[in-house]
Amino acid sequence: MPIRHADADRENETVQPDTTRSVVLLGSTGSVGTQSLDVIARNPGSFRVAALAAGGGRIDLLARQAAEFRPEAVAVADPAAVPELREALAALGVNAKVLAGPEGVAEAAAWPCDTVLNGVTGALGLTSTLAALEAGRTLALANKESLIVGGPLVKRLARPGQLLPVDSEHSALAQCLWAAGPTGPDARAVRKLVVTASGGPFRGRSRAELEDVTPEQALAHPTWAMGPVITVNSATLVNKGLEVIEAHLLFDIGFDRIDVVVHPQSIVHSMVEFADGSVIAQASPPDMRLPIALALGWPGRVPGAVPAVDWTRAHTWTFEPLDDEAFPSVALARHVGSAGGTAPAVYNAANEVCVDAFLAGRLPFLAIVDTVAAVVGEHQVTAAGSVEEVLAADAWARVRARELTATT
Ligand code: MG
Repeated sequence: MPIRHADADRENETVQPDTTRSVVLLGSTGSVGTQSLDVIARNPGSFRVAALAAGGGRIDLLARQAAEFRPEAVAVADPAAVPELREALAALGVNAKVLAGPEGVAEAAAWPCDTVLNGVTGALGLTSTLAALEAGRTLALANKESLIVGGPLVKRLARPGQLLPVDSEHSALAQCLWAAGPTGPDARAVRKLVVTASGGPFRGRSRAELEDVTPEQALAHPTWAMGPVITVNSATLVNKGLEVIEAHLLFDIGFDRIDVVVHPQSIVHSMVEFADGSVIAQASPPDMRLPIALALGWPGRVPGAVPAVDWTRAHTWTFEPLDDEAFPSVALARHVGSAGGTAPAVYNAANEVCVDAFLAGRLPFLAIVDTVAAVVGEHQVTAAGSVEEVLAADAWARVRARELTATT
């Protein structure tokens, strides 16, 4: 975990990685994937692509990425997309090995490299996370669901320092903890993690004012451009709930010591409060290429990864407490995270089904989290000791959430 550092590592903190790191990129055609390739393309001396993997919905883009970055292997999760991929690669003169299906993506996750960046969306990313950790790769984790859903499994496999956060808040927390001292902070020196939230498009609304919001309104996120599920998760603050669980798992801090504060400007990405009352914050304009570059180059910093805050003009940064009545998702996540085992997997899976139902116009906005709470309340929590157990809980939650949203 990034909370632990060696003195020797710290000497390299401000320099670029001194050798070219090979990177396996999972979810290469998604938002994090394309931004990761932008970081890699602009730093050819620091990074090269060893393998690419994607779902299969955007074969043209995947083939063009392979033509530009010349990976040794290209994996596609949908086996039906393989013929089209082979054809597109041949047309572009790309000779990469083609890996097919979920097993192919897992093979890519274990492909020889320095760092695997898991940018897959959803609980599907768990298999790849476990495959990369088992193969001993450094894992840059943008797929927070795999950690949340498979918490006990992932924690059992990951050795200290093997798991690096790509989520902007957790990258910020890692940087604040790193800044605390040459050997990292004593656990007793950390009083609180303070996770910032933009508040989403409905910040400031009361619960009553959230009753009639539409998918179109929920999809208009004020600061980050992301996929539809995570954008709705930002509107309900389920994303922040998931991030509280993620912070607990990454940094081993109790839920009573992880606060959420609303910061609409999204410049301060999170903070750590220390025992003496000091707070260290990490600030940069919202741009995922910073946490991506830091995870790929860790503990080195990639020069010019993003433009810094412009201090020649005036800024106002505001912070306000979270309204737990309007946005009960964070309190529910704390409850679920404290229960542990299969409970976070159920929260995540039920939410994905409810978001789909909301986007399809079948579920009111407030019913998303209410339904997740109902599914969580019915679930018999078990230890999450195997992938099968986690997937069974995930599947049960989806079935139950579908039943509940079908009758709403
Ligand atoms: Mg985040």
